[in-house]
Amino acid sequence: MGSEDRSLSILFFPFMAQGHMLPMLDMAKLFALYGVKSIVVTTPANVPIVNSVIDQPDVSTLHPIQLRLIPFPSDTGLPEGCENVSSIPPRDMPTVHVTFFSATAKLREPFGKVLEDLRPDCIVTDMFFPWTYDVAAELGIPRIVFHGTNFFSLCVTDSLERYKPVENLRSDAESVIIPGLPHRIEVLRSQIPEYEKSKADFVREVTESESKSYGAVVNSFFELEPDYARHYREVVGRRAWHIGPLALANDSTTDKSSRGYKTAIDRNDCLKWLDSKSLRSVVYVCFGSMSDFSDAQLREMASGLEASNHPFIWVVRKSGKEWLPEGFEERVQERGLIIRGWAPQILILNHRAVGGFMTHCGWNSSLEAVSAGLPLVTWPLFAEQFYNERFIVDVLRIGVSVGAKRHGMSAEEREVVEAEMVKKAVDGVMGDGEEAEGRRRRARELGEKARKAVEKGGSSYEDMRNLVEELKSDSKLTVGC
Ligand code: UDP
Repeated sequence: MGSEDRSLSILFFPFMAQGHMLPMLDMAKLFALYGVKSIVVTTPANVPIVNSVIDQPDVSTLHPIQLRLIPFPSDTGLPEGCENVSSIPPRDMPTVHVTFFSATAKLREPFGKVLEDLRPDCIVTDMFFPWTYDVAAELGIPRIVFHGTNFFSLCVTDSLERYKPVENLRSDAESVIIPGLPHRIEVLRSQIPEYEKSKADFVREVTESESKSYGAVVNSFFELEPDYARHYREVVGRRAWHIGPLALANDSTTDKSSRGYKTAIDRNDCLKWLDSKSLRSVVYVCFGSMSDFSDAQLREMASGLEASNHPFIWVVRKSGKEWLPEGFEERVQERGLIIRGWAPQILILNHRAVGGFMTHCGWNSSLEAVSAGLPLVTWPLFAEQFYNERFIVDVLRIGVSVGAKRHGMSAEEREVVEAEMVKKAVDGVMGDGEEAEGRRRRARELGEKARKAVEKGGSSYEDMRNLVEELKSDSKLTVGC
C-alpha cells in the first residue's frame, strides 16, 4: 500500500428498487475490484439482493465488500416487510410508492450514525435520498449522486426545468420540442411524468441537493452519447463521471444469473431452450421489475407476439393464464417460453440466439441491450422511459416504437397498445430489409464500443480512474490497486 496505511473508502447507499440497487451494487463491485474499500448500506429485507452481487466469488474472496444494515422504519403505513419498491404489487404502486418515499426519509438518523461510525472518504447515494447530502456535509464527507439514468434524460429534465416549455401546452395531445438540445427531440405532453410537470417540493429538494453535491456518477459511456455527456457538464453545469455500462461487471455465467431475485427458471433450462434456437432469432420481452399491465393489454401483447412468428421469451409478473388468448400456450409451445417471475436477464440478452429486446426502456434494461449489441422494440411506461425511447429511436437509431402515448405507473392510466402495433414493431426489429439491417449494424457497433469503454484504457475505465485519483488526492490517500 502507499504512504498512508488505508485505502480510499466509498460508502454506497442505493434506493430500494431493483433498477436502482442492481447498478449501484455493480458499481460497488467495480470500485472494490479497483482496490477501493466499498461499503454498502441497506435495510434487512434487502440483504438477499445485496448478497446476490457481493457474494459473487470474484468479489467475496478477493475484494470483499462490507455490508452495513440500518433498520427500516416501522411506523410507515407500508405493508409488513415492504422495504423495496419492487415488492409493491403493481396495482398498489401509484399510492403506496409515495408512502415508501416518505418512509425512506426516516432513514436519516440511522444513516447518520453509520457515517459517524465509519467516516468514509466519500458517499455515493441515490438521487431519491437528497437528505444524505446534509448528513454527509455535517461530517465533511463529499456526496456523489447516482440517478440511475443516462446523460440524455438528465439533459431533457434540465431543459424542461430551465425553459418550462410545457407551460405553453394546452392539452395532453400536444407535443413539445425540448429546447436547447443537440438533437430535435419531440415528446407529447402525455408522455412527460406528472412530477416533472408539477415540480413538487420533493423534486426541488432533489435538484437542490444535486447542485450542492460533489458531482454525479452516470451509468453510461462517452461514445454512446458524447453530445449529451458534454451538454450535461457544460450547459447543465454539473461535474460527472461516466463509468458504465455497470452491468458489464457481471462476467461469468454465475454472476449473470445470480444478480437480483432468485430466478423463476433454472438457468440451465433457460440456456438449453436458447441453445435450441437459431442465431439472433429470439425476441426477449421483459418490462423491468415494476411493470403493470391490464389483462386486455397482456392479451394484445400475446396476440402480437404470436402473429409476428418469431421465437420469444416473455417475462410476465402475473400468475394464472385467464389473461392469455384461448389456446395460446399450445399454439406457441415450440417457439415461446414464458417466465413467470424473475428472469436471468443479462444471461439471456447475451445468448447468441437472442436478436432483439422488447423493453419498457428502463435505463438498465436499455443499456444492457446496448451492451449485448441488440436492437430494441420500445414500449415505455413511466418515469423517464419516454425520454429513453426518444434517445434509442431518434438519436441512436437502434429501436422501433410500439407507439405508446401515455405515461402512467398503473395499467389503468395508459391506453391499450394493439396487437397489430406489437407485431409491426417486432417485425421492424427482427425482420429483413435495409432499415432493420442498419439498426442491427448500429446496435452491434455500439455493443463493441460498450465493451471497449470498460476495458483498461477505455473511456469509462479512465473516468472511474480519474474519479478515484481525485478523491484520493482530496483525502490525501493512496489506493491499493
Ligand atoms: N431484471 C432482471 N430480471 C427480470 C427483470 C429485471 O434481471 O426479470 C433486471 C434487469 O436486468 C435490470 C433491472 O432488473 O438490471 C431493471 O432495471 P430497469 O432500469 O431496466 O427497470 P426498472 O425495474 O427500474 O423499471
